[in-house]
Amino acid sequence: VKTAGKGHHRFFQPALFETIRHRRELEQSLVTALEQDQFLVVYQPRVDTMSGLLCSMEALVRWQHPQHGMVPPLEFIPVAESSGLISQLGEVVIEKVCQQMARWKTYGLELVPVSINVSARQFGRGDVHRVLASALARHGIDARLIEVEITESAMMDEQNRAVEQLAAIRALGVRLLVDDFGTGYSSLSQLQKFAMDGLKIDRAFTMELGRSEQGEVFVRAIVSMAHALGMSVVAEGVETREQLDMLHALHCNEVQGYFISRPVLAEQMLELMLKRFLI
Ligand code: C2E
Ligand code: CA
Ligand code: CA
Ligand code: CA
Repeated sequence: VKTAGKGHHRFFQPALFETIRHRRELEQSLVTALEQDQFLVVYQPRVDTMSGLLCSMEALVRWQHPQHGMVPPLEFIPVAESSGLISQLGEVVIEKVCQQMARWKTYGLELVPVSINVSARQFGRGDVHRVLASALARHGIDARLIEVEITESAMMDEQNRAVEQLAAIRALGVRLLVDDFGTGYSSLSQLQKFAMDGLKIDRAFTMELGRSEQGEVFVRAIVSMAHALGMSVVAEGVETREQLDMLHALHCNEVQGYFISRPVLAEQMLELMLKRFLI
């Protein structure tokens, strides 16, 4: 056993160093990426379940790496968070979204609200509301056209005083959505305390629709609870017609997912904005 233990130990040590080195390299290339403007924002439509009309969209960041191509957020957001670069990255996203909205406006398009993901760590610096207010003012965008998506755990981050900061964001006129709802531990009273405007049901629950009875029970309960509290409900990760039909029957307000559209570049979103009816 001892020998095996030693062998195990020896095997693990270099792997750990490898990981640390990789992390540091990734951190360094994130700094370069910010300097060289390698980030871009893609947009995924959200559709009104009853009418089938495009009603809003989610902004999702992408890293266009000169060697590795398009890097998905799950590969760099965690490093951006732990290294403190997330605030800067968050500012870039807010800026790009507002810039894009102003551009769409000059085309004479009717704007729909855009939701932006904000992670708990972005509250660390305590100025997300100022960053938002400044970008909105500079680009002439109405605050009611911006929504902020935040996870349950981020909402309850006491260390970063999330409550006050969410209130400051909401005071601008920006709507607040709970992201990945159902995966965390928020309670009814918390949702009211935080004055959230809507919920996004996590894809894990959407996937259960039509697969298990539990899926339907869960979505039904969330929708009735949310509506009773005056909140709207978005279902994420809608991939099939069956899921869409069930969400329609369950009075879920909005749907989002590959069945309607993958996240697309701003130019392609322009076509979807002109088309308007997406289901
Ligand atoms: P999220 O906020 O839950 O975003 C939804 C994710 O699900 C997106 O992945 C989206 O492309 C994907 N998705 C949408 N519809 C479907 C579907 O029908 N099926 C499947 N399988 N997936 C679907 P993405 O773009 O890779 O983003 C992953 C996560 O990275 C996001 O999860 C969010 O937590 C984070 N993220 C993305 N952009 C930003 C950002 O600008 N700032 C911050 N802080 N986090 C971001
Ligand atoms: Ca989100
Ligand atoms: Ca989500
Ligand atoms: Ca998520």
